[in-house]
Amino acid sequence: MEGALIARDRVGVQDFVLLDSHTSETAFLNNLRKRYQENLIYTYIGTLLVSVNPYKELDIYTMTQMQLYRGVNFFELPPHLYAIADNAYRVMCSEYNNHFILISGESGAGKTEASKKILQYYAVTCPTTEQLQIVRDRLLLSNPVLEAFGNAKTLRNDNSSRFGKYMDIQFDFKGAPVGGHILSYLIEKSRVVHQNHGERNFHIFYQLLEGGDKDLLCWLGLERNPQKYSYLIQGRCAKVFSINDKNDWKIVRKAFSIIDFSEKDIEHLFGIVASVLHFGNIQFEEDSNGHAIIRNGTQIKWISKVSLSSQIVLSPLNVDLAFYARDAVAKAIYGRTFTWLVNKINGSLANKDSTRKTVIGLLDIYGFEVLDTNSFEQFCINYCNEKLQQLLIEMTLKAEQEEYELEGIEWEPIPYFNNKIICDLVEQKYKGIISILDEECLRPGEATDLSFLEKLEEKVGDHAHFVTRKLADQKTRKSIDWVDFRLLHYAGEVTYCAVGKCEQNVSLEVLCNSKNGIIRDCFLLSELDNRRRPETVATQFKNSLTSLIEILMSKEPSYVRCIKPNENKEPGKFDDYLIRHQVKYLGLMEHLRVRRAGFAYRRKYELFLQRYKSLCPATWPHWHGPAAEGVERLIKYIGYKPEEYKLGRTKIFIRFPKTLFATEDAFEL
Ligand code: ATP
Ligand code: MG
Repeated sequence: MEGALIARDRVGVQDFVLLDSHTSETAFLNNLRKRYQENLIYTYIGTLLVSVNPYKELDIYTMTQMQLYRGVNFFELPPHLYAIADNAYRVMCSEYNNHFILISGESGAGKTEASKKILQYYAVTCPTTEQLQIVRDRLLLSNPVLEAFGNAKTLRNDNSSRFGKYMDIQFDFKGAPVGGHILSYLIEKSRVVHQNHGERNFHIFYQLLEGGDKDLLCWLGLERNPQKYSYLIQGRCAKVFSINDKNDWKIVRKAFSIIDFSEKDIEHLFGIVASVLHFGNIQFEEDSNGHAIIRNGTQIKWISKVSLSSQIVLSPLNVDLAFYARDAVAKAIYGRTFTWLVNKINGSLANKDSTRKTVIGLLDIYGFEVLDTNSFEQFCINYCNEKLQQLLIEMTLKAEQEEYELEGIEWEPIPYFNNKIICDLVEQKYKGIISILDEECLRPGEATDLSFLEKLEEKVGDHAHFVTRKLADQKTRKSIDWVDFRLLHYAGEVTYCAVGKCEQNVSLEVLCNSKNGIIRDCFLLSELDNRRRPETVATQFKNSLTSLIEILMSKEPSYVRCIKPNENKEPGKFDDYLIRHQVKYLGLMEHLRVRRAGFAYRRKYELFLQRYKSLCPATWPHWHGPAAEGVERLIKYIGYKPEEYKLGRTKIFIRFPKTLFATEDAFEL
């Protein structure tokens, strides 16, 4: 149906707002399934795009497809990422305003692939000059570098992003990409020292061992075999069928040179990667006083050579604490190096000229997560999703309300669940969970996980979305009190374990005096003075989330919701149970409800008339008056009832899909 203005094709509906029973989850799922089985992975809810991971290469990302979507009206072509990307771009160019595209979904749903495809779309379709080619290349090549250091093979995704990412692409007044800026969130540091069975450490370790040339490995004191490194063997899957570490190494190396890393930077960076591996191999034994001593000096020798200074000061720890300290240092080094890397990339993407620019931000961020054991990480991730859900609902409601107002149509309030109450429970000053956690962390030595839970119970115990309970097997868990608390999120209940919230700061002095430039940058001496009142990770996260929300609030939104069709990465398999869950977690029914508040369909008079004018003798072949009057004549002629539509200032609003379908059928006859 080329040029069709109605969002319907041969397979189900292209836009969920056109489903007859729009509140039924089953109807929603049926439509999604029907389309997925025909390789139609994209479907709209108004202007939000729902995407189901095909787990196979589809022929829909070609140059021809890109050209097809370029500059075309949103609803004129089948749903596609390119339509979302193009729409944001065109509005940006014509209205000189800023946009963001929020991509969410669970691990393996296709968020990162989607964000890369959008970036490619801009790289290919936006105007550019020879000078700007380098910016374009850097924008594209920042991905392999960040993925090498921030992605890993997990059970759920062979290339799982273990950090949240927000990337601004800056455009000049001609619409050419001229710069960029990246913000990263919560890199999963624990992976550096521990991986679950079937999972790997961050890709870069394996890339370096597989791809690094002999001289480099020799200089770093590394052996090629990953089995030699205790930080790489816990998951027992150093080799992954779908990953070519050697090839990826080449891409990363090339990316480094284009992104303008100096040889010194690169040397220091790999010095750090190697040091982390050496750290993992340090073993301790007990001396006669019960203190830990290092069993063999080899690792320390290499670490001193490639990154840290040789004066490693170890306080008299026992062996358990020594291992703990070793891992803490490795995690801290890696985490901060990642931040350094992001800053470095930002330096190379920065546009120094001061002319006004507009931006499109791409947010690729973890979806709502419920695991068997939900730790602090899940708490942060789910809190983040609450905030983003709130943003989505508020912005959609606001946009709807504004449109109705603009069009002079009366606003009818819609019942929906406002999750602000849950966000407040987490983030409120003094009374929120994060505040309570902060307070507990400021009482080192006195606070325990149990006292944290007691405080929670005292302060938020009677909140409608909060439940506490002590685990039955509490006694069996040695000295730590294992405690749980449970939150009723908008997407469902999650039980969090409240253990070990404050990490100790260990051995920072050593790192501050390092001869490795990156490490010195990462661990500034001034930090030592601030150690008494460190900001907790939770507060840091809350603050970065608050500024992210501010960044987003000032921009025009577009949304992509990604769905993972099955747990086995299998093409074509649509697991109803799994998908029903995600429809819930992604807040899709809520969004549909808000989006369909009153009217399923709306279209500018000109476009509506253009499409259907042949149905009425008065408007065919030409209507010479104002389009609004033409539409009025047309719909009277074909018999729309007053309750089926409303006429706004520039658009017709149609309440039910069936009215529109009847018109479309008449048109096709
Ligand atoms: P995580 O939260 O773990 O980072 P993610 O949502 O970013 O997950 P991706 O890495 O984008 O997931 O996708 C996982 C895999 O699914 C990809 O490596 C690719 O094999 C496949 N995939 C995703 N989207 C598409 C697509 N549009 N076409 C073909 N394959 C896809
Ligand atoms: Mg990802």
